[in-house]
Amino acid sequence: MKLYYDLHIHSCLSPCGDNEMTPFNLVNTAKVFGYDLIALTDHNSCRNCRAAMEAGEAAGLTVVPGMELCTSEEIHMVCLFPDADRAEAFGALVRGNIPPVKNRPEIFGDQLVMDSADTVLGKEELLLNTASFFSVDEVPALVRQYGGACFPAHIDRHSYSILSALGDFSDTLDVAAFELTMQADEAHYRDAYPATRNKLLLRDSDAHYLENMLLPSQTIDLPENTAQALIDRLSPQEKQP
Ligand SMILES: [Zn+2]
Ligand SMILES: [Zn+2]
Repeated sequence: MKLYYDLHIHSCLSPCGDNEMTPFNLVNTAKVFGYDLIALTDHNSCRNCRAAMEAGEAAGLTVVPGMELCTSEEIHMVCLFPDADRAEAFGALVRGNIPPVKNRPEIFGDQLVMDSADTVLGKEELLLNTASFFSVDEVPALVRQYGGACFPAHIDRHSYSILSALGDFSDTLDVAAFELTMQADEAHYRDAYPATRNKLLLRDSDAHYLENMLLPSQTIDLPENTAQALIDRLSPQEKQP
């Protein structure tokens, strides 16, 4: 089935994420917009994923728990998981592998942890927009240990992307997909970076504010509308049709 997706959305937990971008608000906005499947991918944390999944269940929208992990090379990788337990376990691992720098709310925002009904449960004390200690090459196998799959985010951006950090898209990076921003020219990247050619192209909003959320335009073909089906599709051993 063809599903409208947005696999890269931030909540109020992310530094520079708007406090209005609560799990409830972003899920219900996506539902009203007509999405079938979204992922919540805060910077270096999965602490709002369970709330977003609960809001998704209530709204009738599949919400995949995820994270936008910043590698030691300052490359953003979108990591997705089949369930909240494994996402949170991965989140705990990452929390122990980022610099112990405290958030400064006046600069980066409150980094709010919420439940599915917009109640603030707490604030993440560690600054989440730092580079973790994991290198990009080890991320796919690490994510797989938690049942997940990952892909390099916004490779056409001039910062925090695999191309900006390494200058190329390595054939050896064990991923099945990559992300371009909405504006990027697919043919250019397919031509210039051969490693992209046998990989699935994804385009997502990367919204940090409700007003940055986009109407659905991208579809992915999955056998069923579940987190597991998505992860199977994004796992390297899956053959692309
Ligand atoms: Zn990013
Ligand atoms: Zn992002």
